This record gives sequence, C-alpha cells and structure tokens, in this order.
Amino acid sequence: MAKVNDNFLKLPGSYLFSTVAKKISAYQETNPDKEVIKISIGDVTRPLAKAVVSAMERAVNEMGTSEGFRGYGPEQGYDFLRNAIVKNDYNKRGIDIAPDEIFVSDGAKSDCGNIGDIFSVDNLVAVCDPVYPVYIDTNAMSGRAGDFINGRWSNLVYMPCTEENGFLPQLPNEKVDIIYLCFPNNPTGVCATYTELKKWVEYARENKAVILYDSAYEAFITDKDVPHSIYEIEGTKEVAIEFRSFSKTAGFTGTRCAYTVVPHELRLDGVELNGLWNRRQCTKFNGVPYVIQRGAQAVYSDEGIRECRENIEYYLNNASIIRKGLQSAGLSVYGGTNAPYIWAKTPDNMGSWEFFDFVLSEAGVGITPGVGFGPSGEGFVRLTAFSTKENTEEAIKRIQKILK
Ligand SMILES: *Cc1c(COP(=O)(O)O)cnc(C)c1O
Repeated sequence: MAKVNDNFLKLPGSYLFSTVAKKISAYQETNPDKEVIKISIGDVTRPLAKAVVSAMERAVNEMGTSEGFRGYGPEQGYDFLRNAIVKNDYNKRGIDIAPDEIFVSDGAKSDCGNIGDIFSVDNLVAVCDPVYPVYIDTNAMSGRAGDFINGRWSNLVYMPCTEENGFLPQLPNEKVDIIYLCFPNNPTGVCATYTELKKWVEYARENKAVILYDSAYEAFITDKDVPHSIYEIEGTKEVAIEFRSFSKTAGFTGTRCAYTVVPHELRLDGVELNGLWNRRQCTKFNGVPYVIQRGAQAVYSDEGIRECRENIEYYLNNASIIRKGLQSAGLSVYGGTNAPYIWAKTPDNMGSWEFFDFVLSEAGVGITPGVGFGPSGEGFVRLTAFSTKENTEEAIKRIQKILK
C-alpha cells in the first residue's frame, strides 16, 4: 500500500495570512462604506521597469523566429545572466565569485526550501524566532524538524529575536549544523552589521556549520555598515550559501527569477556542495525561461538600475512614513530604514491579534500580527511599505487617530 510522507501530517495549518484575509473581508462586508487599507502584504506593487519590459519584449520576438528560438536552456541559467550577476552584485563590491557558483532559479522561496535536499536529515537546524516560515516548514516536510509540540518543533533550535537583543539572534549554546539567517529581516526589518555577521561566520567555521543566508531584501540596504552580501566577511565562502531574488529588488514577484550562490570552497567531509546543488538542480529543475532571464539581465542595465532604484526609494519613503508616524503616536518601532518592513510593539501590552483586531475595527487598516511568525513575535505587529504613498499616509493617519 502506498503511504504518504507523514511529515506533512505533522505540519500545523498555516492560518496567518488566511485568517488576516478572512478578518479583513468580514470587516469590509459589515462596513461597506469604509474602505479598508491593507499594509499587511509582503508583495510589491510598482510596475516592472521599462528596461525590463523592453528586454522581455525583444526576447519574446526572438523566440518567434527560427534563428532566435531556444528550447531547454542551461539548468543553472544562461551565461549572460550569471555574468551580469557576478559583475554587478559581487565584483562591484569587491567580492570574487565565479559564474559557475551562481545558480539562477525561479525563486528564493523554492531555493531556500529545496536546499535541504543536499543536507543529511540528521543535521541540527537553528532558526530565528520570529521567522520566514519557509525555513521551518521545509525542514519539517523532510523530517528534520521532529514533532510539533506546544507550538515548537522538537528538533529545531529556536533563536529568539526580541526587543532585549535588538532582534538579533544570539549564538546558540549548543552546537548546531545549519543556521538560517535573513538580513534585512522579514518580518522585523532589522539588519546585521559587519561585526554582527562576523560572529556567525566565526561560529560556523569553528563548528563546521553551514549558514544559509537569505538576502532577498538586499536592495533596501542604505546604511554603510550593513553588508550587502555575507561574502563581504572574510572566510565566508567556506561556510555559507547565499540566496538572492529579483522579486523585491526589481518587482519580479509575479515574473519569477532569483539565484543562489554556492561557492566551490564550501565543502563538507571533502564534498563540494556546489557539485551537489548542481546535481540536484540538473535533476529536478529545467531552468528559468529565456524571456525572463533577459528581463533579469536588464535589471543591471543603466536604465534598469535607475528605474529599480526609484521603486526601492518609493517603498523606503513609505517605510519612513510608517516609522515616523507610529513613533509620533507613541509606539516603539523597529526596522523600516534598510527594509520594507516595520516591526512595531503593541501599546499597553496588547496581544498581536488583539491589536490587529483593534486597528482593523477602529481604523479600517489591515496589518499583520507578529505572533504569526513565531512565539517571540507576540506583542508585535508587522507593517509593510509596499502600498501606495497615498494609502500609506492615510493608513498611518487613521492609526494615529485611534491611538490618541
Ligand atoms: C519575498 C521573500 C523571498 C523571495 O522569494 P521569491 O521566491 O524569490 O519571490 C525570499 N525570502 C524572504 C524572507 C522573502 O520575504
């Protein structure tokens, strides 16, 4: 008799965003005259850069000619894109990465999840709390997380990110094998400095651990002391895999293109992880569409860089509106300067959901309860900078009014 992977049966329902959506539409139905503003969604809204659109149009037309037609491309991505990534995202910052260390994919979400394929199920995994749920759920699906007991997985090491530690994970007391880090962070919007990241690289080198570094929000970094890549820290190539995405950088959430860096120096027991990931991708993945990769390449053109930058600035301005607005209403707020997320402490020790309900029913604004990202998120909410400027301003005005 066939059997299911019963690790899936251990997963708790993922109720966060569906509950948020249900509560918002229920409120909208009972208050048809009041327009709900959502600053809860982690998805971009600005249109694609014109340089990207033109590059994709040209590529589509090429595909319609017999000379320009292309079938299966390289599983790892076309050279034109791998070279552009190396030059712009690494060489320009003084980092030496080879094109064959870049693996182009359809998303950082898939890569962060799929990377588990190349690691033994016996590895002890550490995750931040609160966290982007993909890291936890994919480990649970492959049996690496143990059992879900009282809101926690028995085999995972949780690193609480709290107001006391500035929302920065502390080095685990026990020896862990795999560490997921995400900076600029989703959901807290907090960043790690060189000094902070150096601690992790040293820990990983000492303990022969591997850091899985998600830097999907790299484009939002504005502070000088915040590294754009973990490879800016010396000795990192032996211990870290980096995930990047065009989703938040260039509005590709619906277009789909990302990449993962696996340096040749990264070896476990003499085995190069680059070779394993290459084998995994060649077996299970047939590459990102040519048209999309041409669009991604155009992100690095002069016009593409300028247009994408304008969009990032637009979101960062919204982030600043949220930050300042909530601060002036008396809330403690974090993030929002190098990230599109603002992590705000609820007033009067309200619970995350309690404050969510209050803001929805009294202000008609949809936000996200922090506890949905992990137990340490209780007492916080996440607000996002991805709405329009007008809606962001209106939402903050409404929240300020109910906090008076
Ligand atoms: C949005 C996001 C990504 C990007 O995922 P894609 O699959 O490339 O769209 C990766 N990591 C985090 C933490 C994110 O929030």
